[in-house]
Amino acid sequence: MTESPVESRCSVCGLAAPPMLLQHCFNCGEDFHLNPYSNRDGIDCGEAMMMEDNGAEFGVDYFCEPCVLKMLEKAGFPRVR
Ligand SMILES: [Zn+2]
Ligand SMILES: [Zn+2]
Repeated sequence: MTESPVESRCSVCGLAAPPMLLQHCFNCGEDFHLNPYSNRDGIDCGEAMMMEDNGAEFGVDYFCEPCVLKMLEKAGFPRVR
């Protein structure tokens, strides 16, 4: 197991962050902030989305904010901002 002391960078806000606070976007593959704690404050630059197939759980996919907005736009949802 290789552990890099170099911090990664969030592709959304551009700030450096420890890898444990970052997730890979399933769509574009970039790292972005995703707060791993539901009971603590943190930075979210994207969203975790539960993927389901006919009610059967697929698991959780992670998407950075630009990709979330793109997907919502594609699905016909109005832009929130
Ligand atoms: Zn960020
Ligand atoms: Zn993305």
